Amino acid sequence: MKKTGLLASMLAALAICAAPAAQSQELYWATSGFFGPFNIQGLIPTFPKAKDITIPVSMWILKHPKGVVVFDTGNNAAISDGADNCKKYWAAGNCDFLKPSQKRSDVIDQQLIKLGIKVDDVKVVVSSHSHLDHSGNIALFPKAIHVYQKKELYQGYWPEKFQGRAANGSFVLNDLVAARDYDFFELDGDYDLFGDGTVKILSTPGHTLNFSVQAYVNSVERLKRMRDLEGAKILMAHDAGQFASMGNKWHK
Ligand SMILES: [Zn+2]
Repeated sequence: MKKTGLLASMLAALAICAAPAAQSQELYWATSGFFGPFNIQGLIPTFPKAKDITIPVSMWILKHPKGVVVFDTGNNAAISDGADNCKKYWAAGNCDFLKPSQKRSDVIDQQLIKLGIKVDDVKVVVSSHSHLDHSGNIALFPKAIHVYQKKELYQGYWPEKFQGRAANGSFVLNDLVAARDYDFFELDGDYDLFGDGTVKILSTPGHTLNFSVQAYVNSVERLKRMRDLEGAKILMAHDAGQFASMGNKWHK
């Protein structure tokens, strides 16, 4: 495993850059079930034509010499195993539109157990942003240090009015409240997680923070430059094609 960049607060992605350090890192790409099929125009109204997509709900498990890191925790366990369960925890409209296929066995704690990792041994949980499909299960990690951009926590607790403030909407209040007294490490920008350059958290705002077009474009530009200048491989949280080839396995 080469140097890993954890991209906080955009469309959750991982950037793996060429660097000789930390050869002993290993990364597992898991999914908390899938969303879909649903019409992409429901999420991106400007998409030129109706198109049904099915996408993963990605979570990454990084085995690092200094501890296990989980990046994003998927949908809350409560929505597992069918629409009836989903509608007790999420807004019914989100269940009907996204059609989550998550089974209880897909949830991050079960994925860890399957990989032989104890949930309480996870040292750090990094959440890219506080949307329902990325911060759903932070409460399963009471012993971990929870890393967020501070603005993302604010956004989760009190979204902009135009984003909707239903407590079971895109930001599920109970996902966050259930972990309110945990150990949060609140960032304002980039951070070198272990202080040795092997895991860097990179701030890429725009997706949740007021849907800022300016911030979003700047973040995409940053990722493209990393790809083109550093040779970074970018793993996208909702890319079905990438997941089909790289998901459900370890990468060294
Ligand atoms: Zn998402």
